[in-house]
Amino acid sequence: MKLLQRFYLVEVVSGLTLTAAHFFRNMGLHIAHALGRTDARGAVTIQYPEERRPYSPRLRSLHRLVRREDGSPRCVACMMCETVCPAHCIYIVAAEHPNPEIEKVPARFDIDLGKCVFCGYCVEACPEDAIRMDTGILEFSSYSRDGMIYTKETLLALEPAGADGRPTSPVPIPADRRP
Ligand code: SF4
Ligand code: SF4
Repeated sequence: MKLLQRFYLVEVVSGLTLTAAHFFRNMGLHIAHALGRTDARGAVTIQYPEERRPYSPRLRSLHRLVRREDGSPRCVACMMCETVCPAHCIYIVAAEHPNPEIEKVPARFDIDLGKCVFCGYCVEACPEDAIRMDTGILEFSSYSRDGMIYTKETLLALEPAGADGRPTSPVPIPADRRP
């Protein structure tokens, strides 16, 4: 350190000067913008979660299982998504479908979202377009690892996001967070 830097007071004053310069510059820009004197705006703080940035239309959000008209899963338990998943976080148990035209149906379809890396490979690999990542839901959490495992029933109940990219279904509450 140089001699001047050894006097911490000098560095403290230098830091405060820099902070004050940013503060007054931003305040000046905000006032000028409010008075219509300039298009430029000062630094803006996003008041999350009340205020949000727009999502990309290619956003990959919480998965959902697509339903047939009768409400049953479109999934035919072919295991393609389970096989391609790099995080090994999809668990499927196949069962016979009562309709002989449909070979299989998932008796169990769990995704461990605590392991998922949101790569979207499962969506790409699915030959039936039975799994999508278009719910717009990004904020889901749990107090335990088990709570991050989303079951077939939960995934089937989810709806696609609206035209604005915002979720249309409520965020699923994991078992360990239910009152
Ligand atoms: S998004 Fe990727 S990591 Fe997550 S379940 Fe699908 S394939 Fe697995
Ligand atoms: S790839 Fe599609 S049809 Fe096959 S098990 Fe996965 S979700 Fe079901």
